[in-house]
Amino acid sequence: MTNPLLAPWDTPFALPPFAAIRDEDFMPAFDAALTEARANIAAIAGNPEAPSFANTIAAMELAEESLDRVGGVFYNLAGADSTPAREALQRDLAPKMSAFSSEIINNRALFQRIETLWQEHETLGLDDEQLRVLTLYRRMFVRSGAQLDGAEAERLTAVKARLAVLGTEFGQNLLADERDWFLPLSADDLEGLPDFVIASARAAAEERGLEGHVLTLNRSLIVPFLQSSPNRPLRQRAYEAWVARGANGNASDNRAIAAEILSLREERAKLLGYPSFAAYKLEPEMAKTPQAVRDLLMRVWTPARAKAEADAAVLEGRMHAEGVNGDLEAWDWRYYSQARRLEEHDLDEAALKPYLSLEAMIGAAFDCANRLFGLEFRPLDVPLYHPDVRAWEVTRNGKHVAVFLGDYFARGSKRSGAWCSAMRSQRKLGGEVRPIVVNVCNFAKGDPALLSWDDARTLFHEFGHALHQMLSDVTHGFISGTSVARDFVELPSQLYEHWLSVPAVLEKHAKHWKTGQPMPADMVQRLLAASTYDQGFATVEFVSSALVDLAFHEGAAPADPMAKQAEVLADLGMPKAIRMRHATPHFAHIFSGDGYSSGYYSYMWSEVMDADAFAAFEETGDAFDPAMAEKLERFILSAGGSREAEALYTDFRGRMPGVEPLLKGRGLLDAA
Ligand SMILES: [Zn+2]
Repeated sequence: MTNPLLAPWDTPFALPPFAAIRDEDFMPAFDAALTEARANIAAIAGNPEAPSFANTIAAMELAEESLDRVGGVFYNLAGADSTPAREALQRDLAPKMSAFSSEIINNRALFQRIETLWQEHETLGLDDEQLRVLTLYRRMFVRSGAQLDGAEAERLTAVKARLAVLGTEFGQNLLADERDWFLPLSADDLEGLPDFVIASARAAAEERGLEGHVLTLNRSLIVPFLQSSPNRPLRQRAYEAWVARGANGNASDNRAIAAEILSLREERAKLLGYPSFAAYKLEPEMAKTPQAVRDLLMRVWTPARAKAEADAAVLEGRMHAEGVNGDLEAWDWRYYSQARRLEEHDLDEAALKPYLSLEAMIGAAFDCANRLFGLEFRPLDVPLYHPDVRAWEVTRNGKHVAVFLGDYFARGSKRSGAWCSAMRSQRKLGGEVRPIVVNVCNFAKGDPALLSWDDARTLFHEFGHALHQMLSDVTHGFISGTSVARDFVELPSQLYEHWLSVPAVLEKHAKHWKTGQPMPADMVQRLLAASTYDQGFATVEFVSSALVDLAFHEGAAPADPMAKQAEVLADLGMPKAIRMRHATPHFAHIFSGDGYSSGYYSYMWSEVMDADAFAAFEETGDAFDPAMAEKLERFILSAGGSREAEALYTDFRGRMPGVEPLLKGRGLLDAA
């Protein structure tokens, strides 16, 4: 029987034939695709003709096509719909994939061809994009150790292989701790909880085949629980379980893994000639240096901490007034903050949610993309990888643009958080390839599914990433879509969140799921006024995480990361009742793979830009200004990594951004 992953995909839009793919097809498909890629790379490296851009770089761009195809399907499933079989596959694959990339990097003949092209680049007649791609390929090889020899090269390969295994283990441990923990809630425990929290707790019990209600560690359930449960001991128990993920002293404990990862990363950077892993990691970013990152974070930290301390005093006062003595603790903050929010802003999430149905918010995200970029969305009825997943064809002026998949509901088989990935990326080399883009979220299921304001923002955020993929218009897959500097990649996503807050968008789309009535005007006003609410807390929990991440990777790796974390927080004067948004044992951004290692700051860096970029629309007096939308698409959304991030941003805005619009947007200017 033919392996459906390797056979031609004779499906609508060449979508993966999900209905035909079985788990046991993956490993043979990966093995065949790896063999094919190895043969292609060997042919390029061994080509007797002198190196040219076409026979070297362009050929490499196409050498891993089958591997990209199989990997695009598998890695989406491994995150969005994992099973023990898929977890085992992922563990077995990690060293194979790592060995393959090491082989390429260590291929002397291949690197020599690239180096020759690089030396001759001025005389090759390359266009701007080709020169950029050549530059990035060479940089990738050099940064991966292509210039190392003998024992050093061997050691680097071993270090990278071990890091790949540890990163996978870290993520799987976290998933195991999240999956295993649940707390049955008695009728008394449900007291004070809004209906939607009770319904989610009921659904969580059903998913586990249990009667009654259970609390889980899913953010969509535990955060509203912590906001609304008046039962302090229960809040403490739930909170402590939540922040103990990865640090339970069981088989899935991540603390020793974190220490080993940090030590190996330092060794890797030193082998490559960098003073620290942070210096190595930041070189290709917009920020460039650890000092630039620290400067930005500290400019935000000082006013944020002042605001948070002022808020803590108010919340503790409320707690004492209720007759609860002692200090405000981390499991109290959300509860008293929510009560204060209701009083000061009279904004009740439970009253808000009926206006934020998933259907309405998908409609809003699509409508904004239509008004800004002329995109249209048509539901597709095609087999997908899970019954909850939905698909749309995206077109413009009748022309196919992309296929967009939405996988919105939480389930035990999905890792936590929300993300966007391309199962297939856009490119023009070797024939036009249009992308398949998926947004994966963890919204609580319901009938109908109703979102919190945070959920709705997440939906817009991930859709912003999807637009970056779908509108991509470059020749080379290497720089397609979101293949940009890490501290630039959150600009399109965070920028897109701003359109959700445009009053006209809420008036049009935030309609009560039952009555069809639009959100009352005063509710819209209160919602928008509340957007700066508790930003001291949010900024402190984020910036502290980013500074710990930076400290872990600057200088010598800490033997005891937990002690180092405590030291950084003490130096910062971390407010007592706020913890890091992600403490070390569950800081998947920086340990489950090294994507965001010494890069967690980049969300804040991007926020500086998104505040400034949306101001460009506001300055025109029209949030949908066509000329500005055209610039956004031309210089940023379609451009991928075809140029340095600074150049892309400066062309869009006419200048670089400052930190003030961010402080203003978060309501932190007064506290400065
Ligand atoms: Zn994002």
